Amino acid sequence: MKRVFVAEDDLTSLKLLGAVLKKWGYDVVSASDGSTAWQMLQTPGMPSLIVLDWMMPGMDGLDICRRIRKRGTQPPEYVILLTSMDRKQDIVAGLESGANDYITKPFDNDELRARLQVGQRVLELQTELVAAKKAFEFQATHDALTGLLNRRAILERLEREMSRCRRQESELSIMLLDIDHFKDVNDNYGHAVGDEVLREFSQRLRTVLRDYDSIGRYGGEEFLIVLPDICAIRNEETFERIRYSIGSEAFRTTAGALSVTTSAGATCSDGKSTVDGLIHEADSALYRAKNAGRNRVVFAERHP
Ligand code: GH3
Ligand code: MG
Ligand code: MG
Ligand code: MG
Repeated sequence: MKRVFVAEDDLTSLKLLGAVLKKWGYDVVSASDGSTAWQMLQTPGMPSLIVLDWMMPGMDGLDICRRIRKRGTQPPEYVILLTSMDRKQDIVAGLESGANDYITKPFDNDELRARLQVGQRVLELQTELVAAKKAFEFQATHDALTGLLNRRAILERLEREMSRCRRQESELSIMLLDIDHFKDVNDNYGHAVGDEVLREFSQRLRTVLRDYDSIGRYGGEEFLIVLPDICAIRNEETFERIRYSIGSEAFRTTAGALSVTTSAGATCSDGKSTVDGLIHEADSALYRAKNAGRNRVVFAERHP
């Protein structure tokens, strides 16, 4: 549905404009003075195509336009100024206030219609651009197979959480998980089934974690979890619950039910910790978990 917002203080002109816009298939939202227009434009769901009369009592079209630009909505609104002033310096002032276009009154219907269509097209392109940018940002930070954060993104998240931790003098733990004998799954059932296991593994971790925990695919079959406000040694049951969510129930795959377990190393940051230091501690603990027979969580040695 094409939608347009119109502000015009001359009621006869407003009526005329409204009628012609409706005839062209626009859904019209209108205001008859500047202050009301600005108030309305601050409520959600307003049209992004906006026609503003320049001269209005209260707040003029230029003022509104500046305010619209100042708040910087993404994608930005398309604003057409309606004006009887057509001296060069007026037009410049109008465009400098952030308007995309202007039409001088009395306006020609065909011209208005054409200019609105241009605005409509620009808005559509901008919407597509914003969506493409979002999709690109998601792809750059997420792993395509599991939908989890990728390695770089989870490390960035860890860095950020650690600074927050230092500021607030709170605790933070990490857990590095590695699927046990995962190569056997690939070897026995094929790579596609291996992928199914990785997806189900990720899904189970997502379900068992709190909203403010972060999880990323750290490597092929390795995962990194960041748990703010948790100390590894005093919250052993949290880590056990995560391990249990994997091993407790068989994975249903297209090759049938498979038993999957994970080993993990966990450690807690202590204010002086660095990202590399923490990862190293968790990695050593994970190595010991593997050597001790797998399907277990081992805590870093620093912890008693
Ligand atoms: P361990 O218990 O010691 O960890 O044994 P493992 O077999 O899990 O360890 P290993 O490192 O030998 O094997 C990991 C395997 O994970 C090898 C690699 O082919 C597989 N892998 C890595 N990424 C993917 C992926 O995206 N999909 C599939 N299907 N397999 C993957
Ligand atoms: Mg006016
Ligand atoms: Mg591995
Ligand atoms: Mg493994």
